[in-house]
Amino acid sequence: MFSRGTLSARSFLHAKPPLEHAMNTDKLQDQFESDELPCGHCNGTMINVYEGFTGVDGTVYPRKEKPCLWCDGLGVFFKPDLASLIKAVKGRKPGTLRSKRPDDSRAYFIWRMARFHTGADVCLPMTAQMEISGDPYRDMLELVAEMLAERLTGHKSAGRARWQAAMYGTAPQERYMPESAYPGGRVADADKPVEELLELF
Ligand SMILES: [Zn+2]
Repeated sequence: MFSRGTLSARSFLHAKPPLEHAMNTDKLQDQFESDELPCGHCNGTMINVYEGFTGVDGTVYPRKEKPCLWCDGLGVFFKPDLASLIKAVKGRKPGTLRSKRPDDSRAYFIWRMARFHTGADVCLPMTAQMEISGDPYRDMLELVAEMLAERLTGHKSAGRARWQAAMYGTAPQERYMPESAYPGGRVADADKPVEELLELF
């Protein structure tokens, strides 16, 4: 009887609820004070200015104003829908991240940061950082990714532990970290998208 109780307690602990239920995104969603924030590149002006210059051959290139690429000329970014972003990064199996990168930039960023924190890919996420450049909601997206990774794994960031080990010579303080959290462990799994391969060097 005792052992049966222990067993069911164990299987309860290992049962993985669907991600969107496991994380209370409503509370985080309530943190947004406005529906939109100014673009970090054009600061809400909707344009990027390219100052004029004269080339070495004397050609004059006039000053140009172009619609901002980063916010699609809108001047603002709209607040993210966190619940739908979580849905966009989850895998088919409960309690997993999808294996293929999501197309949407914000979903991709969360997916990639979550992979960094779980230890699936401890390379610095340069490509994903570039894709959401200028997004004023970036801090929230980062927070969601880290919380998500902790939910999935039950441990703190493996990626951060790996980099702390590299920079300060300290081994992860937490138990049950994946091999990738330690110096010499593999840095990325087979799901790493080809466009991120520069991160390996
Ligand atoms: Zn802009």
